Amino acid sequence: MSILAKAVATAIDSLLPELESIYMDLHEHPELSMQEFRTASIAADYIEQLGFEVTRNVGVTGVVGLLRNGPGPVVMLRADMDALPVTEATGLPYASRVTAKDDDGVEVGVSHACGHDLHVTWLMGVSRLLAGHRDQWQGTIMVVFQPGEEVGRGARSMIEDGMLERFPKPDIVLGQHVMVGMAGTVGYRSGAILSAGDSLKVRLFGRGSHGSQPQTSIDPVIMAASTTLRLQTIVSREISPHDSAVLTIGALQAGTKENIIPDEATLKLNVRTYDEDVREYMLGAIRRICCAECVASDAPREPEFTTLSSYPLTVNDAAATSRVGGTFANWFGSRAYETQPAAASEDFSVFGRSWGVPYVFWFVGATDPEVFTQASKAGKINTIPSNHSPKFAPTLHPTLRTGLEAMICAASSWLESGGESH
Ligand code: ZN
Ligand code: ZN
Repeated sequence: MSILAKAVATAIDSLLPELESIYMDLHEHPELSMQEFRTASIAADYIEQLGFEVTRNVGVTGVVGLLRNGPGPVVMLRADMDALPVTEATGLPYASRVTAKDDDGVEVGVSHACGHDLHVTWLMGVSRLLAGHRDQWQGTIMVVFQPGEEVGRGARSMIEDGMLERFPKPDIVLGQHVMVGMAGTVGYRSGAILSAGDSLKVRLFGRGSHGSQPQTSIDPVIMAASTTLRLQTIVSREISPHDSAVLTIGALQAGTKENIIPDEATLKLNVRTYDEDVREYMLGAIRRICCAECVASDAPREPEFTTLSSYPLTVNDAAATSRVGGTFANWFGSRAYETQPAAASEDFSVFGRSWGVPYVFWFVGATDPEVFTQASKAGKINTIPSNHSPKFAPTLHPTLRTGLEAMICAASSWLESGGESH
């Protein structure tokens, strides 16, 4: 049993009302990726008052807080802060009505449809609990509020801003994500827990012409159609049935008018994989097929590839996960379970990868138990609004408490040991 978690349990009760109002305020004031100025300053001010050494504007809006409490391991706890360009449709009294300009200058509705407002609230609460119970642990806590997870840039921008040189190297990096699942539960697993996600834009070049004179054109519409179909054969014909991958072409654009053959076509595609070799293979095969289709059409130029985003695999360290899992099992009992890997991606692992240290990431269920049980009985879990849906609405209780307990339990697996192995 985590002594620390036990010690803070009653403190959580008195902290919940404050955290609830912080959460609702953050929820009502979401900010797009790499624009999290208000959120970052709320988090930074809060932990500064608790006695953390605070560094602001790391990688644009990132915040790093250090609380040194004697010799022992350095434990990094991470929360992402950004919201999504999604118009909220939850009908909650504290729903967002915010609009903002995205990177292309387009006015969009903004909301915390991925629940990062809860991640920020949890980490603020955990900071307070740890600061208030310094007699129960030793070591150094490093809390990190990260920008731009949804665009896959935030963690890298913090690293590029000198994170590795400016702050102590952690012994362990810990993070959690709110998800569809029975509220009050935590799901964890050793090994790959989140897929790698790669998004590419591919421009295919042809030669425009009058629609009545195809012989004078090189038709990029045909090239794009043929490429689209052929790309779908990578997973079905080239990947072993023991491996898995997803390839989705989410955008296919060419032309303006029925009697004009356009100059070029654009594909935007997304790839999810659970294994580094499969990922490399998929990316190579995509290039090969796009290039070959262009040759087949006698295209005037090779296709142009642009990486839109690239999320690495999230692979939980086996030894570190068994430490965390042991503490979870003791504290949560049957409410802690081994989860399947999710076909979602995160840039959380960038920190652990860059420092070359183990990391553990887990899920916290946020669906009202009644709703979840009903949906589960009816075989309709897929109908519960998930992360990124305009209707995604985590139930606050007990989710708020569960996330605090999970983070405290996980951190205590290092902080109570003073750096020794169990
Ligand atoms: Zn998300
Ligand atoms: Zn997220």
